[in-house]
Amino acid sequence: MCVGALDQQKAESIYREFTPLIGDESTPFPSFLGSDGRKVVTFCSNDYLAMSRSPRAISAARKALELEGVGAGGSRNIGGTRKVAEELEAELASLHVKDAALIFNSGYLANFVPMKVISKRFNAIVFSDQQNHRSIIDGLDTYKAGVDKHIFQHNDVDDLRRLLKQHCRPDRPAVVIFESLYSMEGDFSPLAEIVTVSKEYGASVFLNEVHAVGVMGDEGGGVSSASEVLKDLDLVIGTFGKGYGTVGGYIAGQSDIVDAIRCFGSGLIFTTALPPFLVAATLTNVRHLRESSHERTALIEKSDLLKKRLAEFEIPILFDCSHILAAPIGDERATLEISAQLFDAGYYVTPMRYPTVPRGDGRLRLTVTPAHTDTQIEQFAKALAGIYARVVL
Ligand code: PLP
Repeated sequence: MCVGALDQQKAESIYREFTPLIGDESTPFPSFLGSDGRKVVTFCSNDYLAMSRSPRAISAARKALELEGVGAGGSRNIGGTRKVAEELEAELASLHVKDAALIFNSGYLANFVPMKVISKRFNAIVFSDQQNHRSIIDGLDTYKAGVDKHIFQHNDVDDLRRLLKQHCRPDRPAVVIFESLYSMEGDFSPLAEIVTVSKEYGASVFLNEVHAVGVMGDEGGGVSSASEVLKDLDLVIGTFGKGYGTVGGYIAGQSDIVDAIRCFGSGLIFTTALPPFLVAATLTNVRHLRESSHERTALIEKSDLLKKRLAEFEIPILFDCSHILAAPIGDERATLEISAQLFDAGYYVTPMRYPTVPRGDGRLRLTVTPAHTDTQIEQFAKALAGIYARVVL
């Protein structure tokens, strides 16, 4: 049934193959064993602060495992709400200085569910940045026929203003949704300007901080935590899967919005809750990163080193303002080839291709963590430069 479509993907070099990585005592993070038993160092992890390896989180998870078992045993509504989940929600509300928070089984769901609820149930007119994550797009597309959505040019405040002016109506709620830090480019949004123009038109503002929570802001509260407009954000969306090193997602905001999403969000109600041991590990990491900034400082230092070496080897990156370094390659086949050659050289970097990025815009999305040694970074940059010169130049 699907063979033709898959063959087409293969012909276009956009067919996805997963690369199994094995954690092993001989290869501590960021190293793994590949399935052929050779060591590979990852340079594309979203475990930005290496918090998946936090001894305190592992010990909290172990303790909860013993006490509560490996599963929640039900949805949040049917026996699956443990005290630790509510403690985590209180911690997240406090982190973002909001009334309430609600956790989901993934960051994907923390976008998808609110988008579906506000557009379907509350008939909101939604204004969404052109480069918003797939989970936002999917949440708005679920009920395509009924959804009134307007896509503004990426980070373009004038385009947003134009659309707000044209489409806002006094009898319907309006919501603007965008991200603080974009994952495939590594660029920031003009946060204050977008909030200001949204509020001029009476729109609510939802900010996706998935790539910034844990990683930015004094206590890991993301880009908005240091911003004067934090109080104007109606909903902050985060994940545990990146800076916090576990799995799951969340929203934090005004209690009425959070409660509405809780009550009308089918992607929350009709699914088994996160296992308590994972929630306990997450809570430990969230609390730790509120108190400790040395992981954030180390990430900046390591990223700066990689940026410096990439610049010396004249490997372009799209933006150099964050820990996400996207090296544009263009042709999908070349992107695949570089990734394969890196793997042979002992480095793992996923080849980013359509539909994650536009067609013909293949790229390597490079990240380091505090666990990378300077030597690993130096050697990786050198290996990449050699391969890049052979494949691209
Ligand atoms: N939102 C954004 C902006 C993302 O980039 C991602 C994943 O990369 C997600 C949400 C999904 O988060 P999770 O991996 O926790 O499902």
